[in-house]
Amino acid sequence: MRAVTWQGRRHVEVQDVPDPRIEEPTDAIIRVTSTAICGSDLHLYEVFGPFLDAGDILGHEAMGVVEAVGSDVSRLRPGQRVVVPFNIACGTCFMCLRGLQSQCETTQNDLYGTGASLFGYTKLYGQVPGGQAEALRVPFADYNTIPVEDDLPDERYLFLSDILPTAWQAVEYADVPEKDGTVVVLGLGPVGQFASRIAVQRGHRVIAIDPVPERREMAARHGVEAWEGDDDVARVIARTQGRGADAVIDAVGLEAHGSPFAHAAHMITGMLPDAVARPVMEHSGVDRLAALHAAIEMVRRGGTVSISGVYAGDADVLPMKTMFDKQLTLRMGQCNVKRWIPDLLPLARDEADPLGIEDLITHRGGLDIAPDMYDLFQKKSGGCVKVVLTPTT
Ligand code: NAD
Ligand code: ZN
Ligand code: ZN
Repeated sequence: MRAVTWQGRRHVEVQDVPDPRIEEPTDAIIRVTSTAICGSDLHLYEVFGPFLDAGDILGHEAMGVVEAVGSDVSRLRPGQRVVVPFNIACGTCFMCLRGLQSQCETTQNDLYGTGASLFGYTKLYGQVPGGQAEALRVPFADYNTIPVEDDLPDERYLFLSDILPTAWQAVEYADVPEKDGTVVVLGLGPVGQFASRIAVQRGHRVIAIDPVPERREMAARHGVEAWEGDDDVARVIARTQGRGADAVIDAVGLEAHGSPFAHAAHMITGMLPDAVARPVMEHSGVDRLAALHAAIEMVRRGGTVSISGVYAGDADVLPMKTMFDKQLTLRMGQCNVKRWIPDLLPLARDEADPLGIEDLITHRGGLDIAPDMYDLFQKKSGGCVKVVLTPTT
C-alpha cells in the first residue's frame, strides 16, 4: 500500500510499504478513506526527529471502512464505517475505566515512562504505524473504533479522532464557573478553532489570539473575538475589569512563537546524532514557553489554565511564585478521546452543524500531496488551516 512516511527533519515521502495485517485476535484492518494532518504531526516533522526512524508511517487522525477483523473482535464487521481515536487504549484497565484512555495501563510505554501508545507518534508512544496510509491496523479494535453508520460526509466525523475531543477536553478542563465568564484561547490552529467555538456555544465570552490573519478571520466567523497578539496580556487584563480571564486555554504548545532561547535549543538538539539527542530531550529538553507564560499572566487569580498544546521538556522553567500566589489551577494532557464521544457524536451528526465542523478544512487531496501539505501547514501559508488526505474512497 501507499503511506506517508517520515524520512528526516522536514522530509516526508509517500512510499510503497507492506500492507498491514491482523497480528492479534483483537485487531482490525481499516481501509482509510480520510486522514488529517495535525499540529502534533508538525512536532514530528521538525523537533521530535530523534524519536523517529526513517520509514515510520505518520498520522493519527483517520477514519475508514473495516476490511478485516481478528477472531476476538465481536462488535465490528467488514464494511462498517468507523472513526479511529488517536489513543490506543484497551478499554478495560484501571485508567480506561476512569476515562483516562491516554494513560491506558495496557499500552503505556515503560521504556520512556510515557502514557498510552498513539498511532503514528514516535518511539515515545509505541512507534505504532499511523493512519496517513491506504490502510491501518487498529489494536483493541472493538474499543478503538467509533462506528458512524449514516451517510454524512467523512469531514463531519473525521475530527472525532482527535481535534474535536481535544478541544472539548480543553474547555471542560478550563472549568469556567459562570456561563458569561471570559475564556482566552491562545492559538487558532484546528484545536484552538474548535475550543473557541465550543466555548462560544456554552455562552462564554471568548477572546482568541493568533498571529495568522486567515486563522483569526475563520474564528471571527464563529462568534470569536480574535486578536493578533501584541500587548495581549495588558489588553486581556484591561478588558476584564483588571482581573484577567476566568480561564485561558493554551492551544499552542511547545513550538510557540516568541521563545528565542528554546527555539535555538530545539535547533541545536536537531543537529545532534539521535543517540545523543534522545537522552538530552528526554531528561532536560526545554519547550518554547511564550504562550504558556502569557496564559499564566493573563488568567485571573483563582482561575484555570487548561493546556492542550503539547509540551515535552522536563527542565522547563515556570513562574512558581506567580502560579502559587495567584492560586491557579493547571489542567493538561493528551486528550482522552473516547471519554468525550458521547457528548460530541450528537453534535457531529446534527444537521445544523452547531460547531461549524464543515468550516475548517482548507486543503484536501490524495496521499501524494502530503509532502507539500506538511510544508504549507508548517509555514501556515496559503491560508492553510487543516489538511485532509483521501487515500482511498
Ligand atoms: P497548529 O500548529 O496549527 O496551531 C498552533 C497555532 O498557535 C498556530 O495557529 C500558531 O500561529 C499559533 N501560535 C504560535 N505561537 C503563538 C503564540 N505565542 N501566541 C498565540 N498563538 C501562537 O496546530 P493544532 O493542530 O491546532 O495543534 C495545537 C497544539 O495542540 C499543538 O501543540 C498540538 O500538538 C496540540 N494537540 C494536542 C492534543 C492533545 O491531545 N492534547 C491533540 C491535538 C493537538
Ligand atoms: Zn492530532
Ligand atoms: Zn486501558
